[in-house]
Amino acid sequence: MTKSWSMPPGKAQRVRPGFDLAAVDASSTPGWEHGRSSAESKLEADGNRLSEVQERLYAHGRTGGSRAVLLVLQGMDTAGKGGIVRHVLGMVDPQGVQLHSFGVPTERERSQHYLQRIREALPAGGRIGVFDRSHYEDVLVVRVNELVPREVWEPRYDEINAFEREVVDSGTVIVKVMLHISQQEQKARLRERLERPDKYWKFNPKDVDERAKWPAYQEAYQAVLDRTSTEHAPWHVVPADSKWYARLAVGALVLAAVESLDLDWPPADFDVEAETARLDAQPF
Ligand code: AMP
Ligand code: MG
Repeated sequence: MTKSWSMPPGKAQRVRPGFDLAAVDASSTPGWEHGRSSAESKLEADGNRLSEVQERLYAHGRTGGSRAVLLVLQGMDTAGKGGIVRHVLGMVDPQGVQLHSFGVPTERERSQHYLQRIREALPAGGRIGVFDRSHYEDVLVVRVNELVPREVWEPRYDEINAFEREVVDSGTVIVKVMLHISQQEQKARLRERLERPDKYWKFNPKDVDERAKWPAYQEAYQAVLDRTSTEHAPWHVVPADSKWYARLAVGALVLAAVESLDLDWPPADFDVEAETARLDAQPF
C-alpha cells in the first residue's frame, strides 16, 4: 500500500502572510511521516498519475487548448533544482515538458526589459513549463549584489505580481517553489563537488562568494515571499536538505496543479463511425 500525506504539500508549505523563512527547518519533512523508502514508492505512484494527466494536457494543447502549468523553481546554489527536473519531470513524456534555465542575462537580454526573456519562455498550451531560476533572480541576485539601484528593483515585486496575473488569466497555473536548504547542507554539497571529479563540472567558484552573502540572500528571499505570494500565484517553501522529500513534495505540487485543470480527452473532430467504416472498407 502506498502511504499518504498527513497534510498535502499544497497546504503544508504554502506561504501565507506572516510566513517566516528563518523558522523553517530545512531538514524537516512536513506532512510526510513515513520516511524515505515509502516516499520513493509514493513518488513512483505519483509519477504514473502525473504521466497520465500530462498526456491529457498534451492532447488538449494539440487540439488548440490554451491551458498550461508553469513550475517556477528557485533556491540557493545546490538546492536541488536540477534533481527535481530529472526525477520529477523525468517521469513524464519529454514532449510535453518545456524546460528553461535562466542564467546571467546575455548582452541581448540585458538590453531589453527583464521580463522579456521570461515571456518568450512561457509554456505553450498543453505543456508543463519548468523554470530553473526565473524572473525572481531580478529581485534576488540583482538585489543582493546591487546590480541595479534600489529604485530599479523595488517596483519589480508589484510588476511581477501583475505579470503573473496576466499569465494566470491566459490559462496557466503557476506553481512557485523555493527549495530551502540549510547553510551546512549547502557546504556539504559544495564540498562534494570539490571532492568528486565527476562533479567538478557543477562547481563554480562564484558559488563560494555567493554563499558568503547567505544572510542577504535569506532577506531577499523573505522579501520575495512577503511580497509575491499571491492568491493567483502562491509560493511554496519546500525543505530540501532531504532530496527525496523535496522531490516527493514538488511532484505532489505539480500533480495537483495538472489535476486541477480537470481536463477530459479532447472529443473527436471527425465522425468516428464514418471513419471506422471507411477504414474497414479498405481491402488491405
Ligand atoms: P546556474 O543556475 O548554476 O546555472 O547559475 C546561473 C547563474 O545565473 C546564477 O548564479 C544566477 O544567480 C545567475 N542569474 C540568473 N538570472 C540572473 C539575472 N537576472 N541577473 C543576474 N544573474 C542572474
Ligand atoms: Mg550553479
